[in-house]
Amino acid sequence: MDEAMLDGNAVAGLLQDVFAVETTTTIATCAGCGAPSPMGATQVYRGAGFVLRCPRCEQAMVTLVPADGRLWIGFPGIRTLQVPVDDS
Ligand SMILES: [Zn+2]
Repeated sequence: MDEAMLDGNAVAGLLQDVFAVETTTTIATCAGCGAPSPMGATQVYRGAGFVLRCPRCEQAMVTLVPADGRLWIGFPGIRTLQVPVDDS
């Protein structure tokens, strides 16, 4: 494992600020290979921000860049995101 790489659980707090759900267990389907995986299982690389990569094909799925009191979010590689809802 690369020293700069973490798993998706490392950015749970940042994602929790945006989504009012438990983000680490939401299922993201990769736009590159089509594999579904929990956000917590993505590979997170740190740099100017964070890049969450598919654990199967390393497609950049999500980018997070905290700067100047804002969080810049990109979803360049997510086909679908499954978020649990209370539909009762
Ligand atoms: Zn993939």
